[in-house]
Parts: sequence; C-alpha cells; structure tokens
Amino acid sequence: MKVKYINNPDNLPENTPSSALDAANKVDETYQFRSNSYYQSLINWDDPEDPIARLIMPDAAELNEWGKLDPSGEHNYTILPGLEHKYRSTALMLVSNVCGGICRYCFRKRVFMKGQDAILKDIDGAVSYIKEHKEITNVLLTGGDPLMLSTGKLRKYLEALAEIDHIKILRLGSKMPAFNPFRIIEDESLLDLLKEIIAKGKQIYIMTHFNHVQELTDEAKEGIRLLRSTGAELANQTPIIRGVNSTPDALANLFRELSFLGVPPYYIFQCRPASGNSDYAVPIEEGYGIFEKARVQVSGLAKRARFVMSHQTGKIEVVGMDGENIYMKYHRAAEEADSGAFMVLKRNAEAYWLDDYAEIHAKNPLDSLYHSYGPE
Ligand code: SF4
Repeated sequence: MKVKYINNPDNLPENTPSSALDAANKVDETYQFRSNSYYQSLINWDDPEDPIARLIMPDAAELNEWGKLDPSGEHNYTILPGLEHKYRSTALMLVSNVCGGICRYCFRKRVFMKGQDAILKDIDGAVSYIKEHKEITNVLLTGGDPLMLSTGKLRKYLEALAEIDHIKILRLGSKMPAFNPFRIIEDESLLDLLKEIIAKGKQIYIMTHFNHVQELTDEAKEGIRLLRSTGAELANQTPIIRGVNSTPDALANLFRELSFLGVPPYYIFQCRPASGNSDYAVPIEEGYGIFEKARVQVSGLAKRARFVMSHQTGKIEVVGMDGENIYMKYHRAAEEADSGAFMVLKRNAEAYWLDDYAEIHAKNPLDSLYHSYGPE
C-alpha cells in the first residue's frame, strides 16, 4: 500500500470535517502537523471521541500556555547535539527529526521545530564517546523515529554500534508499527538488517508506542509478527493521554491485546508537562488510579508495566497511594544518591509532575535495604 505523508492540513482526506481542518490550520502555525493516509484511515469520524482523531488531529487547546519545551531537562544530559547520557548504562541518540505522524501530546516538540539543534549530526563523535564509555551497555536510537530513516542509513548506525564490544543492547524507539506498519511489511531489507545485527550477538529491542487498541490493525499485527520473527524483542510504552487511553477499560484492553501479540506493556508514562500538553495530561494521582484499575482486569503477563514519570532527576515509579500520601521510588536515577530512593509525598490531586508536590514527608536515602537495587 502506498502510504502518503501529510504535512499540511489542507492535504487531509476529503472526509475530514471542516471543524477539524480549521483547528489543524490554526494550531499548525505553532506546533507542526503531520499524519499519513494510512493513519487517517483509522479515524472513525462518526465517533466524536475517536481516540485516533484525538491523538493525531490538532486541538485549539494546544495553544493554552502550559509546560516547557524540554520538560525532562534533556539538555542537562546532552554530550553533543543528539547524544544524551543520563543513566550510566544507557546512551540515547536522537537520529531523526521526523516521525510517521506527530502525536499531539509529543514531549519532544523541540525536535520538530526549526532552529533547534537537537538531532545528531556528528555520528563519529557519538560513536567515539560511546566507545570510550565502557559502562554503556545499551544504546537507544530515537528522535523522531529511527524507522523513518532509510534502511541504509539505519544500517550505518547499527553496524557502527554493533562493532563496540561493550554494547549488548540496541533499542529502537518507534511508533512506526502504529503510524505506518507498511514501513516494516514492505521492506524485507529492514528485517534482514535486524537479523544480521542479532546474529552478531547484539540484542535488539523495539520499543513500540501503541496508545490504543484501535491502532492494532491487521497490518500493525503483521508488522509486529515480522519484527518478532527477526529475533528482536518488542515492548510497548505509552503515556496516559486524556481522551485516548484515560479510562481503565481503554488501558486494560491495550494491555491485554499487546500481551496476546507477544508485546509486553513496559512503561506507562505520566504525560510530560511539555508545551501544548495541558489538555492531554492527566494528573498523576488520577493516572495512577486508572493504571491500577486497568491492571486488576488483566493477566499477570499483561500487567508487567510500571507507571513512571520521566523526571529530570530520573525515572520515578509511582508504587502506591493511600488517603494521605503517595509513594514513589526511583526506578532509574541520574545521580547515584537517588538510585532506588523511596519517597513519601503528601497527596496533591492537582499534581502533574514531581515538582508539584510541595511536601515530601520522607526520602529514604537508601543507604540500607533499597540501595541494593542501584546504581544503574
Ligand atoms: S512518536 Fe514520539 S517523538 Fe514522534 S511525535 Fe509521537 S511522541 Fe513525539
């Protein structure tokens, strides 16, 4: 199938309602629009709450003042443009400034903006840095979407990284299985490349980004099957997005279906307070409630996900809540002192981010029990 990318709302299919077009044209001046003919075909315009439309079609509420362009402070961990090293064992390369569409709640809007220097240009410099840092065992290729690169370009990255002895895992963060599964189905050379890298003894993980079961079409399932057939491991991550998957049933259905396809739900993210995201984000405590109510509906295999916040200081997992407090724990920490730290915070129903919690009752510095988990 020939999938056509759509960068201008005026080129959307004829069945797009005029109200949706007006909103798209208005928001596009501030936050870029992008979709494609396949993904648009998944929208049921008869459903005013269609999750795909919510995910891809701009909403005037994006223009509300809220959030930051770089809510997780990624610039603090940037070694050179497009190379980040936050957690000891993992380096992150921003290899593409394009995705198969643009999620309206995107937390990396800065990557798509003109004049932003976020993408990796100095590949040799990045590879040299990784070679010198033997503590790095994982490299995550992200962006944008690494599967928007040609297979030839992707090969250059993967082969250069596969040459490095201490790199054991190569991860590709990609929403292409959802946005455009034909990128996988129609490119045998991509599957051959993944097989070759795995044959060299490197494990490839594909971090998929399905947000709702409506994205799990027959084509998406075929894409998943083909990727898995290469020996790559798949795992899914999604934020909780208001109107897309912000009910226990929507999230439980996603967990369940993914587990049937051999794609373990890995991270459920707190939607980052990125610019334009006020209408998409769900407060932490509401989100945690949705997450737990979804988990009780599914099997153990389907509920392997953690609910985490990608904070500037690390990945912080919400582990529990009672009438007075919410309990969190550092799952990954940028600073060794925070590794595994356990926090007791006074509840705040309006909190969207760790920084919104004014009162931290306790932060267990983990010089005892919990420290056995870190550092990583
Ligand atoms: S796939 Fe990721 S980087 Fe691309 S638009 Fe969506 S959230 Fe942003």
